[in-house]
Amino acid sequence: LPVLAIVGRPNVGKSALVNRILGRREAVVQDTPGVTRDRVTYKGEWAGRNFTLVDTGGWEPDAKGINASVAAQAEIAVDLADAVLFVVDATVGATSTDEHVVRMLRASNKPVILAANKVDDARQEPEAAVLWGLGLGEPWPVSALHGRGVADLLDHVLTVLPEISTVAKEEVGGPRRVAILGRPNVGKSSLLNKAVGEERVVVNDLAGTTRDPVDEQVELGGKVWRFVDTAGIRRRMNLAQGADFYASLRTSAALEKAEVAVVVIDVSQVISEQDIRIIDLVLESGRALVLAFNKWDTLDSDEGIEKERRRYLEREIEQDLAHVAWAPRVNISARTGRHMEKLVPALELALESWDTRIPTGKFNALLAELTAEHPHPVRGGKQPRILFGTQAASRPPTFVLFTTGFLDPQYRRFITRRLREIFGFEGSPINVNMRVRE
Ligand code: GDP
Repeated sequence: LPVLAIVGRPNVGKSALVNRILGRREAVVQDTPGVTRDRVTYKGEWAGRNFTLVDTGGWEPDAKGINASVAAQAEIAVDLADAVLFVVDATVGATSTDEHVVRMLRASNKPVILAANKVDDARQEPEAAVLWGLGLGEPWPVSALHGRGVADLLDHVLTVLPEISTVAKEEVGGPRRVAILGRPNVGKSSLLNKAVGEERVVVNDLAGTTRDPVDEQVELGGKVWRFVDTAGIRRRMNLAQGADFYASLRTSAALEKAEVAVVVIDVSQVISEQDIRIIDLVLESGRALVLAFNKWDTLDSDEGIEKERRRYLEREIEQDLAHVAWAPRVNISARTGRHMEKLVPALELALESWDTRIPTGKFNALLAELTAEHPHPVRGGKQPRILFGTQAASRPPTFVLFTTGFLDPQYRRFITRRLREIFGFEGSPINVNMRVRE
């Protein structure tokens, strides 16, 4: 889906506008400085067209961090979105922060739509008109709070947002798209250099901008791969505040472009909340997953402390990563090159699982076997039955079961587990949904 990113200074009304665009009824949550919203990407729809909305404003810096954080938002938006919705508070006018961001946005050649927010009635429209001076074309006067002008704004957004994303290309047959993710210092850029550096970089300037390439295409194992948002790996953000938020924003936005994620974990460190959070973002995105345990050169010796760390690591994997036990694991060293050749087969395996389609006949024969082997327990005198099932989608495999009543969560887990045992689906999340036929 095409990606639209919302950028703007704190308090210009980005969350109110996000809520409006998503058509959410709930009251706008007042942004408190330093508060991080959990979600940053949403599925939006307008006039029958779907798009991904990236809300870059989930973290509101204090006054001295504003310039850096709005610049970080803009940088991520420019790298990872098809179009940028830049929001200015018309009652305040353009500030120097706004002007700085406008320069970045204009240099990017990405379509930018200028929303002049807080124009609550017609008498304020001249305030919006002043924003022509920013050089971003027509300012669209809106009131995110009251909804005024939002429909016109969205109609206009659809005219500049490409039908097919140029960043998140969904074409079949193109190079497979890989995101390398992980918290700082786990070795993402070392891994990228090891993988890319020794190979021919096929196309360098993919984004076609004057800045660093956003993605890099590389031939590995006889095939061309596209590493998405390598700019985000190579260019490091230097933020005093909110670094975690912007890292996670970047991760979410990069996942929009990717088909498979390599989550890099540093084996010399304890597996952390942040590692798990990144894995959860991959699961939420529905992308395929490979786990790369890096820095194995630090655990190679049979000496006491390294041996002990290996034991703890096994235990941490069992405890913290049980929910992704299906993801292929490669134990590598980006420094020495150890086992780097295992990465491509792991990516191929994960993508193959992600693409899998199970024919309906085969799936139903299997369901018949499973329900015979283990019928659903009787609930309140009734026994919900599965009438039939089908694979509704791939990427990731998504199954729908048509049933005569609600299935227990445990029963759905049983079906999911058996599907995995039978088909493997190594490296891919799978979804099992249910439709009750009355
Ligand atoms: P990034 O922030 O995830 O991109 O991490 P970097 O690639 O910049 O690596 C962070 C640090 O870890 C650097 O000092 C690297 O030299 C080091 N490093 C990366 N990979 C390995 C590895 O396989 N083994 C060891 N011992 N160090 C590594």
